[in-house]
Amino acid sequence: MALAKEFVESLDWDSVLFDSSHDKCYCNNCYPATWANVTDAGGQKYVIPRGWVRIGLYVDAATVGVNDIWNKWIVTFHGTSLVAAKSIIHNGQFWLPEDELIGWSLLRIGPGYISGKKHIYTSPTIAYSSLPLYSPKYDFNSLNDNFDYKAQIVLQCRQKPNTYSVQGETIDARTTRICPFIPNSEIEYFTEIRGSLVAYGLLVKLI
Ligand SMILES: [Zn+2]
Repeated sequence: MALAKEFVESLDWDSVLFDSSHDKCYCNNCYPATWANVTDAGGQKYVIPRGWVRIGLYVDAATVGVNDIWNKWIVTFHGTSLVAAKSIIHNGQFWLPEDELIGWSLLRIGPGYISGKKHIYTSPTIAYSSLPLYSPKYDFNSLNDNFDYKAQIVLQCRQKPNTYSVQGETIDARTTRICPFIPNSEIEYFTEIRGSLVAYGLLVKLI
């Protein structure tokens, strides 16, 4: 947790974007190997992001209250770059390619977006969302241990049921199984509805 916090603090994002009550560590000590690998939210299963640390994001109280997202919405993951994640968090919502974003005029297509398709992609497993195509690796030098790390981020989201479509992987994995718990044929969700997704955690992995 301390290392992930140090990495996120190094980004120098505004502290009002975060909410530590949503922090959670999925390392082997905090989430033992004997605990479930797959769990349920909103009637849909998702895979526990073992080895990642969740830095909690602020979620608008009205969004929570109106939609009851902690009980009724499913959990999904969205792999993306730091700059795209920051734009999503700053704007308070996900965006579709070609959206006009305040202050982000040059950011039209994020990593993993397919040119010509106006979709937002998510997955029930971080094994898919953290593929480097979606979630690039960044160099990070910790001032605590002076060690050089590779950092990745993935947004953990609540997603409204019945607002998305399910499809197979789109990375040409063929017979290579991406996740032991979710079949390749059901590993990608896509939606055109921006407001059906709420990011509540910045998942960080440092190796
Ligand atoms: Zn831990």
